[in-house]
Amino acid sequence: MQETNGSVMVRREFGEGGFSERTQGLKGNNLSKTRLEKGRTPEKIRSGKDSDQRFCDGLKAKVTELLFPRKCPICEDIVSPRGELICPECIGRIHFITEPVCKVCGREIVSEEEELCSNCKRHRFSFEYGYALMSYSDEVAHSITRIKYTGAREFLDYYGKKAVELYGDRIKKMGVDAIVPIPVHKTRLRKRGYNQAAVLADVMGKALGIPVYEEALNRHKKTTALKELNAAERLKNLTSAFYAGYIPSDLHSVLIVDDIFTTGATLEAASRCLKAAGVEKIYCFALAIKADG
Ligand SMILES: [Zn+2]
Ligand SMILES: [Zn+2]
Repeated sequence: MQETNGSVMVRREFGEGGFSERTQGLKGNNLSKTRLEKGRTPEKIRSGKDSDQRFCDGLKAKVTELLFPRKCPICEDIVSPRGELICPECIGRIHFITEPVCKVCGREIVSEEEELCSNCKRHRFSFEYGYALMSYSDEVAHSITRIKYTGAREFLDYYGKKAVELYGDRIKKMGVDAIVPIPVHKTRLRKRGYNQAAVLADVMGKALGIPVYEEALNRHKKTTALKELNAAERLKNLTSAFYAGYIPSDLHSVLIVDDIFTTGATLEAASRCLKAAGVEKIYCFALAIKADG
């Protein structure tokens, strides 16, 4: 890693065979829009890996599966048949979001006559619109807790893949330049070892051929006890928590990804922050969304 002015920026890029990471030292303050040359295109990266490398990657994946058999994100048993990311019977225990949905946040709504969920009728968001993969059931909540607090990042392989399977075409239609994960504070990141939203963004970005800019958004300070605050208080608390980082001048639209959409306050705060830093259009994607009402 190369450091400049104490600030190191990591840009993740994708290719069929895996990610490459480049570090860029940034000058100036984090709120200014940073002009950086556009990186390698997906096509160039894709052709960068030769067949030997792909064979090695495949072999590595098989050995890893033998040594550390994959666990199901729902029942947490070893997945059978081997090679799958979830037990076939556990797929039925997840409620994937279906129409009719809110035109803004993607939450399921009861009536097709309605355009918006009750939350989006009350609050106006600065992002264009978003989607969510699953209902926030007890099982999904438990699975996400395992991802966040007990190192079960492998579960995100299934959720990310499913997100691309169900929403890939719609996300491509958004025409976003990059995917930006909601950041966690650095102290929390050190403790957990990874940011679950960034892992999800990587899985989705790799499959969709969209670069992931993990450093576009940063978190100033720990935001705690959000559960005790109402939507307006959460937003106020959160807006000051984010600051923009690596925003190249040709970044016009982004998809922000997060694990859970509750009131939308986190995504709204992140959206406002990126817009203030010059991004014109923001879209959202959440793994799980709470029911309407
Ligand atoms: Zn299972
Ligand atoms: Zn809504």
